[in-house]
Amino acid sequence: MDRSYRTPKAWLTKTSGFLQGYDYSLNPYVGCTFACSYCYVRKMPVALFHKGEWGDWVDIKQGVKETFSNELVRAKKRGRVHLFMSSSTDPYQPVEVEEKVTRSLLEVMADNPPDFLFVQTRSPLVTRDVDILQQLGKRVRVSLTIETDLESVRKAFAPKAPPIQGRKRALHALYQAGIPTQLTVAPILPSSDRFAESYVSIADQVCIDTFELGDGANGKRSRALRMPERLTELGYETWYEEAALEKVHRQFCAHFDESRVKLSQEGFLP
Ligand code: SF4
Repeated sequence: MDRSYRTPKAWLTKTSGFLQGYDYSLNPYVGCTFACSYCYVRKMPVALFHKGEWGDWVDIKQGVKETFSNELVRAKKRGRVHLFMSSSTDPYQPVEVEEKVTRSLLEVMADNPPDFLFVQTRSPLVTRDVDILQQLGKRVRVSLTIETDLESVRKAFAPKAPPIQGRKRALHALYQAGIPTQLTVAPILPSSDRFAESYVSIADQVCIDTFELGDGANGKRSRALRMPERLTELGYETWYEEAALEKVHRQFCAHFDESRVKLSQEGFLP
């Protein structure tokens, strides 16, 4: 893995498009070594104009204590601060164990909380920070993405991302610690009929999203990544269709209160 360090001019990036309800996105890293095959960031400038294959490199942002605290103070003076962490990297990818950029950002936010913080990850490492997340109370929601309950499917699409059982245990631990939690099934990958039932008591809400709705380009990026072909190769061609969304949505609504099962953008609202 190619690792480099940089001091960002700004930590907070004004949001637009998909991130409705948010004022800024916050990315502790550039790049992501989970390297999910369907990751739409692969087709964004941040990846297209960087040297090396997506997943082989990560740029580590430095200077949290020196610059982020002041930037947060200034942002709060300007108005509402709803933060989305992270939109184009995983804040708990493996390098975070050593670098602790995400933890440092959270420490600053515990002292001076934003109005709302959405934490989006696929990694059980998020449980390391339970102590700080608890300090944020209802101002935070942690979303664990679990796209399928089938480990064979996870390995086919995201072999370097954490195994499903570890993510599930992490979601449970956060829920038990009283941290607002979300199970995010995005993008929907082929799953079993028993997916929903085992998550009922470990997530406050569910968000379901698809390749077409969730890649920020009406499916264009997912098609460029040949996701329909990949599903077909594996014998799952019907899972790219709208019917897959209906099927998974129905299954979750059978086990969760319908008001707690959100679709696409709605599920990421503060
Ligand atoms: S964890 Fe998220 S950012 Fe990282 S490769 Fe997977 S989809 Fe992309």
